[in-house]
Amino acid sequence: MLRKLAIAALALILLGPSTMLMGVAVLMNPAANGACTATATGLTVGSVPDSLKATAGDGTTLTLNKAQLTHAATIITVGSQINGVTRDGVQIALMAALTESTLRMLANTSAYPQSADYPNDGDASDHDSLGLFQMRPQSGWGSVKDLMDPAYQVKAFFGGPTGPNYPSPRGLLDIPGWQSMDKGQAAQAVEVSAYPDRYRNYEPVAQTIIDTLTAPTASNSGEPNAAIPETSRIVFPLPEGTWVLTSPFGYRTHPITGARTLHEGTDYAAPDGKPIYAVADGIVTLAEYSEAWGGHLVIDHTVDGKPVSTGYIHMWKTGILVAVGQKVTAGQHIGDVGSSGQSTGPHLHFEVRPGGGQAIDGDKWLKEHGATSQNNTVDMDTSSACTSEPQTEQTTPATAPAAVDVSCEAN
Ligand SMILES: [Zn+2]
Repeated sequence: MLRKLAIAALALILLGPSTMLMGVAVLMNPAANGACTATATGLTVGSVPDSLKATAGDGTTLTLNKAQLTHAATIITVGSQINGVTRDGVQIALMAALTESTLRMLANTSAYPQSADYPNDGDASDHDSLGLFQMRPQSGWGSVKDLMDPAYQVKAFFGGPTGPNYPSPRGLLDIPGWQSMDKGQAAQAVEVSAYPDRYRNYEPVAQTIIDTLTAPTASNSGEPNAAIPETSRIVFPLPEGTWVLTSPFGYRTHPITGARTLHEGTDYAAPDGKPIYAVADGIVTLAEYSEAWGGHLVIDHTVDGKPVSTGYIHMWKTGILVAVGQKVTAGQHIGDVGSSGQSTGPHLHFEVRPGGGQAIDGDKWLKEHGATSQNNTVDMDTSSACTSEPQTEQTTPATAPAAVDVSCEAN
């Protein structure tokens, strides 16, 4: 790490005095290693729909609501950050939570009256079981307070050396050979239930959930929206001199799973609380806070006569300053930099989606459109030291966030 920084500093000296000044500022900036975390499963939750219909193995149809889907998003997101958890592992966890609680955080007031003091989706009374995976304090899964936290339940379900329940009761990662087991059997092994078929029945539902929640967000149809006039200008989303590009747009190959995953945005590290600006005139089409992304804004614009959506992610709840349907102008202060969701430090994850569809390189798009800084001067190109590096096939170990450092050779 220190050596890496030294090399980066040397490289910056060689690049000349103005770059060096920026380099020193960056090295001293505590926010400078903020970036999105790579996930081991290759799964990233887009946005959570209000409801989803899915068919179980026995042909019955299930309609899941926003609360249930939000818990599913927590399972995908928290699970994907645990070393050793694969896409199959996430599916097994969803099958288990569907079977045990239909993806509801269940209190159990007959065993623990205080369980109703925590956010919950209803009351149940099976033994002293609690929450999504119906874990029992008496079996050693955790305290009532622990088990009424959905993220804790997910960590306990997967277990493994970093699990809060390690080494007993066993989570999925503690079951030898779980990877080659039938998924119903693997879920049963963790839940210690006598009925593997109950879990298997939800295998197609879990599949539908993963496919739907991890699909990219599409906020508009690709048709120009008459209500959104051509933007007056394009503005860089952060104040001049406050940010550094820590992780570019593009594919990376995961070192453990070998899965190729697309980083759909550009990460600009900046100090917590710095203002985020709308890059163009437009209308806010998404303003929400979820466990997966943290704060998430999408704005629809018209640029060069065509519709384009921009996304801004990782604000804290209090750092979301606009609402859906609100008209904004280029350079308007719409949020504050935070580090919520899958994040290693304060940064803005910025996305550009032409027609609301597939993401393109947002940093390049800003340059191509001559983005100016908010106070109307041409933005200083402080990212050139990073962007001159090859932008494909990056290797970013999920377990070592320090690797996504400002030292560009690490990207
Ligand atoms: Zn990112």
